[in-house]
Amino acid sequence: MTKVRLGKTGIEIEKNGFGALPIQRVNFDESDYLVRKAYENGMNFFDTARSYTDSEEKLASAFKGFNEEYPRESIIIATKTPSETREGILKDIETSLNYLQTDYVDIYQLHNPSFVPKLDDGSEVYETLLELKDEGKIRHIGYTSHKYELAIEAINSELYETIQFPFSYLSTHKELDIVERCRAHDIGFIAMKAMSGGLLRSSKAAYAYLEHFENVVPIWGVQREEELDEFLSYMKDDVKLDDELSEIIKIEREELEGEFCRGCNYCAPCPMDIEIFKCARMSLWIRRFPPEPSLTPESQEMMKKIEECIECGECKTRCPYGLDIPELLKKNYEDYKKILSGEIKV
Ligand code: SF4
Ligand code: SF4
Repeated sequence: MTKVRLGKTGIEIEKNGFGALPIQRVNFDESDYLVRKAYENGMNFFDTARSYTDSEEKLASAFKGFNEEYPRESIIIATKTPSETREGILKDIETSLNYLQTDYVDIYQLHNPSFVPKLDDGSEVYETLLELKDEGKIRHIGYTSHKYELAIEAINSELYETIQFPFSYLSTHKELDIVERCRAHDIGFIAMKAMSGGLLRSSKAAYAYLEHFENVVPIWGVQREEELDEFLSYMKDDVKLDDELSEIIKIEREELEGEFCRGCNYCAPCPMDIEIFKCARMSLWIRRFPPEPSLTPESQEMMKKIEECIECGECKTRCPYGLDIPELLKKNYEDYKKILSGEIKV
């Protein structure tokens, strides 16, 4: 187990945190079990968001409203607001505190905002966050983004104590640059999408790669107990990057070279109800995992919806990776039809 200081927040946490996005998809009993198991085995950092439906409520439920068994001060809670207005932030923080059954949030993050709020920029966003800090409702201010330029601007502003950004062994020099700048500015780096939206095959290699960066805190999004057990076992065994894991990373990098859909789902919603984040990476998915679940009548129906794309371009404006989504969908659909017909074997 490794302890990390989360930059200038001064918060000391276990290096591996719990990403509470996937617990939206399980019931309260299951999420109670997962969250408690994570905590009882050393995880003490839990990252959620106002936008993750009932995830905040589920954390509070698992920790029984933070009683003697689960003391509030032993658990670091980060949540996020998607709002970019004073009114929205004030409303969101009250909702979050209410759902989390607590009177403060350790790290309050702006959730993928369209700009970097600063003092006196006219938006009143940063002033509102400072006000919440003065009132003791939030302890630290963080910024989350998928965009390199915004993350750099947030770091250089010296206004944010943590940056949350996608980071995995597929990351490029840009992400490495953000990690390094965070270290230089003493800003906590929280790594999201360390499994690249489920596309990476080796959780052990993903874990070992991030373990390698002393100022990086990954938040592992887990939905099933087996997934949690994997990460807990790596923490216990103190897994490090060895030759075998480095070789896995090398092969995966070669296979996933170039532009691909990370599965972040920021492009949703599609007016034609196309499940973009699943359809746009079908070609990769079906080759990297057992293909049968991707060939069911339901999956075929999902892929057929691509025919209904009206090329409105709405999704493209929201993709942080600048992907030409309609084109990517078409390519995936053509490939999928060939796999279905047997013309291409996977
Ligand atoms: S371009 Fe196609 S996939 Fe994208 S939002 Fe419009 S209809 Fe949906
Ligand atoms: S197409 Fe872009 S926005 Fe949509 S899921 Fe993929 S990477 Fe994310």
